[in-house]
Amino acid sequence: MIPFLDLTVINAQYEKELKEACSRVIDSGWYIMGKELEAFESEFASYCDSGFAIGVANGLDALTLTLRAWKELGKLSKGDEIIVPANTYIASILAITENDLVPVLVEPNIDTYNLCPAVVKAAITPKTKVILPVHLYGLISPMPELVAIADEYNLLVLEDCAQSHGAQINGKKCGNWGDAGAFSFYPGKNLGALGDAGVITTSDPQLADTLKALRNYGSHKRYENLFQGVNSRLDEIQAAMLRVKLNYLDAETARRRSVANRYINEIINPLIKLPDWKSDEEHAFHLFVIQTEKRDNFQEYLKKNGIQSLIHYPIPPHKQQAYKSLSGYQLPITEAIHNTVLSLPISPVLEENDIDKVINAVNSYK
Ligand SMILES: *Cc1c(COP(=O)(O)O)cnc(C)c1O
Repeated sequence: MIPFLDLTVINAQYEKELKEACSRVIDSGWYIMGKELEAFESEFASYCDSGFAIGVANGLDALTLTLRAWKELGKLSKGDEIIVPANTYIASILAITENDLVPVLVEPNIDTYNLCPAVVKAAITPKTKVILPVHLYGLISPMPELVAIADEYNLLVLEDCAQSHGAQINGKKCGNWGDAGAFSFYPGKNLGALGDAGVITTSDPQLADTLKALRNYGSHKRYENLFQGVNSRLDEIQAAMLRVKLNYLDAETARRRSVANRYINEIINPLIKLPDWKSDEEHAFHLFVIQTEKRDNFQEYLKKNGIQSLIHYPIPPHKQQAYKSLSGYQLPITEAIHNTVLSLPISPVLEENDIDKVINAVNSYK
């Protein structure tokens, strides 16, 4: 079976360095909020070219705490509207509702799966305060246009970069276009920890300061609490793992792009709609997502041919039990996407002969 993603093989490449880093933390006797986190935050901020990076426990918290910080700073209040793509992973929506804010779901562009500037503009009301683009599957959203709209209407921009580490437009990386960017380092993400972790990037010192307090019980100074914060810290072991893996992120992304380019050049089956991207720098290829009418049938066919595939995602947020409140939305494009998408294996360690097998199987499908 060609696995969808083999984390054992990915992490085995760096085994020696990861174990050394682990030992370094064990021997230091300091496990939370120490030198490894400080170093990783500065290295990741510099990778994204942003002023600050603030480590938190996971990607969901990165999103949730940024919105929460804007509330504490008086930029948002209960009931304000956040424009977000309807076809996103549930976390983007959870971060909004957790803060008593209102998600305004909009249809994505069916070819890129990302926000469409004209659709965003049409959804703006006097209550709109934030645009939340999700760089889905690794493709950066049309940020120059979205930032221009945000400037025109005085809106904040929070980028969900959980799938798009390193994707960029004109050399400017995701997480650095909006007012803040939220990243996940869940093990299967392009930059994956060996556990849970996340980060917020921003160049706003006030936001960075507020986030540093919020993640640590609302405290800047021990036993003095400015806010009713939470415990959402990125621990030293994970920071040390991420420091090792950050050094290889660009090489891994290049490898993902080369797999994607083989798929796009060699898959020629008219039943399969391939993804659409303008330039490689814009796409980090967290996932390689195709569309096909009889999706479940195609997935079964791949399985019989020894190829594991996954669906991202089978049920959109507005159709989830958890969001009965959103069930009134009519979102035909989003629903069509959820019924037809399938993700083929893509990873920095996929072997050439496995790529051949995937291409041959997809081309032989009738
Ligand atoms: C993974 C993911 C998140 C959440 O990240 P966690 O670290 O799992 O909390 C948020 N948004 C998107 C689009 C994701 O893919």
